[in-house]
Amino acid sequence: MPPSADTSSASNILAAPKRIETRLYINGEFRDAVSGKTFTLVNPATDEPVAQIAEADKEDVDAAVDAAEAAYPAWRDMDGHARAACLRKLAALIRENVDAFAYLEAVSMGRPVYNYDNDCEFAAASIEYMAGAIHHLHGETSLQSDGYLNLTLRQPFGVCAAIIPWNVPMIMFAWKLGPCLAAGNTLVLKSSEKAPLTSIKMAELIHQAGFPPGVINIIGGFGPTAGAAMAKHMKVRKIAFTGSARTGKLIQEMASQSNLKNVTLELGGKSPCVVFDDADIDAAVAGSQFSIQWNSGQICIANSRIYVHEKIAEEFTQKFVKSFGSVKIGNPLDKDTRHGPQADKLQLANIKRFLEKGKAEGGELLLGGAQVTMDGTEASGDEAKGCFVHPTVFSNVPESATIVKEEIFGPVLAINTFTSEDEVLARCNDTEYGLYAAVYTKSLDRAIKFAKGMEAGTVGVNCTSPSGLFVDMPFGGFKQSGVGRECGMDSLHHWSEVKTVAIKL
Ligand code: NAD
Repeated sequence: MPPSADTSSASNILAAPKRIETRLYINGEFRDAVSGKTFTLVNPATDEPVAQIAEADKEDVDAAVDAAEAAYPAWRDMDGHARAACLRKLAALIRENVDAFAYLEAVSMGRPVYNYDNDCEFAAASIEYMAGAIHHLHGETSLQSDGYLNLTLRQPFGVCAAIIPWNVPMIMFAWKLGPCLAAGNTLVLKSSEKAPLTSIKMAELIHQAGFPPGVINIIGGFGPTAGAAMAKHMKVRKIAFTGSARTGKLIQEMASQSNLKNVTLELGGKSPCVVFDDADIDAAVAGSQFSIQWNSGQICIANSRIYVHEKIAEEFTQKFVKSFGSVKIGNPLDKDTRHGPQADKLQLANIKRFLEKGKAEGGELLLGGAQVTMDGTEASGDEAKGCFVHPTVFSNVPESATIVKEEIFGPVLAINTFTSEDEVLARCNDTEYGLYAAVYTKSLDRAIKFAKGMEAGTVGVNCTSPSGLFVDMPFGGFKQSGVGRECGMDSLHHWSEVKTVAIKL
């Protein structure tokens, strides 16, 4: 559903059906990039251009950092209640704009509008949690050194930067903004070049919510230019990044080669889901299907490897393939669509390469395996409109195969069988990723063994991703899935420095 027209807005974000034009949001103003450069955003369902995006460069990053630096002392020193009030107002405005956000994500990266209110609610609740958490950002006190009262203070870093990906831009935005501002920092945020519309719509709401100018600055642009300028900036004291492990490593390198800024990284995954023969098979089918189907498989925590006990493998696989194969493919703007396009032609090409590897490296193709059109019929070649891939299932795939080892970020999964607990646990952990893992079983002993033994930042027991993600619990990765945590008090601690004060008595 198109959002209501809002031509009064400085960013002209919702002037549909005209082409949307965005600007940078710096120091409380919508402005063009210094270079005047823009780039075109294309709807991945139709291949039609939908927006012209202002493209930030180093000069724009410098201006945004200067604005954040100027705004910092007053924001840091503002009463916690006043900072919390701005955050709560923003959360309320997000809830009032669900349809607009749903439309913008659908036309930019293909997220179906179905169920989109969940994303907005999750984002709003995350920001509200941080508003409440401001008053729990406490230090410690100690009288253990004779003649001293020692205490710790939690203080902001100063100017911080955030770089977010395209796959769930609303949630990623909220997970960065909430704790950053709650801790008293100011922020420069860069959206992904593939999904910049959510962030610039957020700028309008930030404006309405009454944040002082410069506290939050939002830019669109590309990684190697604007993103790298943020990661290398000498005045930026912390950078929080969500995206691929490859880019995360570059960010850490740039941070250490400039001013050794504090870095948190939320990176990719290759999440396993283990289904034992005592599990509720229907619940396991429904949960693991939703996990890989959500956002057309473009989710860092998607369970792209399913290990089923050999005794129930046939029943589970048949049910899974039947259900995943009947998912409604279509235009993400249609309310009955459950499976939209991949984000762009590059994503489509990547996934097609994985499909070919899956076929070549010994997997048995049970479902899909090809590009399709918007109505789900097989398409071949570049002339096919849109970026749709049919839901795909391989089975009996060698553990060494590329589709078992690498993150695909698409609606493609491998179902393999196992016989023993120890063997399957070892296979689950045989990966450099460690973001999410799941186990379905009725045995408490086994559930606890897997909760302890799986090398992942979150483990689902009788549920799988995205279940178990709550605003008050930490989220993040083991191994190459990340450094640091988002959500909960852990997140707030990652956005603040701890200082020890010694008072001589
Ligand atoms: P990406 O690494 O290509 O890009 C992410 C962001 O980094 C974009 O804003 C991009 O412009 C920027 N960037 C790219 N190159 C850069 C550079 N040289 N310097 C600075 N910035 C640069 O990732 P993506 O394709 O946008 O997102 C998909 C990846 O994100 C997947 O691997 C997925 O698993 C991961 N992800 C992780 C989480 C999590 O919470 N762990 C959540 C969502 C997505």
